[in-house]
Amino acid sequence: MDTPLTRGWIARVASTIADQADYLTQLDSAIGDADHGVNMNRGFAAVTDALADYEAATVGDLLVRVGSTLVSRVGGASGPLYGTAFRAMGKELATPTVDSAQLAGALRAGLEALQKLGAAVPGDKTIVDAYLPALEALQAAVDAGESLTTATAAAASAAHEGMRSTIPMQARKGRASYLGPRSVGHQDPGATSTWLIFRSLAEATAAGG
Ligand code: ADP
Ligand code: MG
Repeated sequence: MDTPLTRGWIARVASTIADQADYLTQLDSAIGDADHGVNMNRGFAAVTDALADYEAATVGDLLVRVGSTLVSRVGGASGPLYGTAFRAMGKELATPTVDSAQLAGALRAGLEALQKLGAAVPGDKTIVDAYLPALEALQAAVDAGESLTTATAAAASAAHEGMRSTIPMQARKGRASYLGPRSVGHQDPGATSTWLIFRSLAEATAAGG
């Protein structure tokens, strides 16, 4: 993975979030305050601007800039959470190219930072429920010697399953937790945007940028 591939990943995230913003907001209207798509779209539009004439020397430079932009430009809970994750990821990748094992390690650092900030564990009906299985699938594929394309495709598919697994969960973190048992039966918006982020990574990897 190099800086053009990283830019390709983030550009795909921005365009898929723009396409799916209404869907994300609709999911958030069921168990939150109907702004997840708006928040994410505002954040990634700002990211697109922030990367446009930014000369990045390393993969990490790009990801740290993505994270800082999300932290400063997104008001909802998701901005600081994703922002912190991207920054932590970026700090692990201080070279112009990184291999699959380094990417897995960086994604792990991102999840750890997100969990340190948000204190969510698996089963709380959050971003973590899509992110953790995606990371585990990616790590398993990398450990098995699979290509980056295969590993990121496995991660995207595990994120999708993780996202679906949030439907029967009762939320224990974030706004949805205020609903108690009434949060059951709805797919978590943040787990859904996490799936879009991993799907974009798989698509960028398959396309070479
Ligand atoms: P807000 O809840 O402030 O309106 P968003 O609507 O943008 O922010 O994001 C909501 C999503 O954030 C939820 O669907 C959930 O996945 C995620 N989320 C909320 N709190 C946490 C947390 N503590 N840890 C991980 N993810 C969380
Ligand atoms: Mg919301």
